[in-house]
Amino acid sequence: MRKKILAGNWKMNKSIAETKDYFEVFFAGTKTIQDQINHKFEMIFAVPFPYLSTAQAAVQGRGVVAAQNVHFEKSGAYTGEVSCPMLRDIGISCTLVGHSERRQYFGDSDEVVSRKVKATLDHGILPIACLGEKKEERVGGQTFQVLQTQLDAILAPVEPSQNIILAYEPVWAIGTGLTATDEQAQEAHAFIRRRLRETKGEAFAEKTRILYGGSVNGKNVAGLISQPDIDGGLVGGASLNPEEFAVMANIVAGAK
Ligand code: PEP
Repeated sequence: MRKKILAGNWKMNKSIAETKDYFEVFFAGTKTIQDQINHKFEMIFAVPFPYLSTAQAAVQGRGVVAAQNVHFEKSGAYTGEVSCPMLRDIGISCTLVGHSERRQYFGDSDEVVSRKVKATLDHGILPIACLGEKKEERVGGQTFQVLQTQLDAILAPVEPSQNIILAYEPVWAIGTGLTATDEQAQEAHAFIRRRLRETKGEAFAEKTRILYGGSVNGKNVAGLISQPDIDGGLVGGASLNPEEFAVMANIVAGAK
């Protein structure tokens, strides 16, 4: 049985003071389920680089603090970038990779994403690798072809004994208020899981968590995570509000 995950992606938001306030409010709203975090379900908070340590100090093991991106090289002349050893150095062992905003605005091609996945695994960092089709690709009937290409690049460096988390995030649903229906999301997740089985075997397909992302909120999370191949949510906008995110955590904690 795969443990459900609720992951928040703050993107480029908040300050140190807001980070501290956020966790006070979030943990006040999740008092009754805190002992279930890590055991019954998992919480991940992907915060901006400057606030990783502040978030870690506030979370204190009641969830995982993650980065939102990482470079594939260990060190060198890559101005403005952060490496896997640097994340490890400050105690971070999880990061988003290949978020659609990285793909769209910062040139993270499938090849780059693949190298980043390899780098994380080489350094003992758990990647949350994102994939998803654009609106024109869905309308043009190319959804599964696009997912397969992105997924195969993500999986290329992965051994079946290793662990990754995947996040299916249709680009047309990110930050738009448009959510895939439960059925549309399940269909894509089932496709992804079938491909995991074909390429890496049954055990890998069964253990790998696939999160859904794209305008997930307190109202639609229950329906989405009740689907058999949806193992949780990656939440952008709604994760910025600690009260709403706490409501969502309570729903995930109560999910079967
Ligand atoms: C995201 O940033 O990964 C995301 C899914 O954003 P939103 O929930 O705002 O659509």
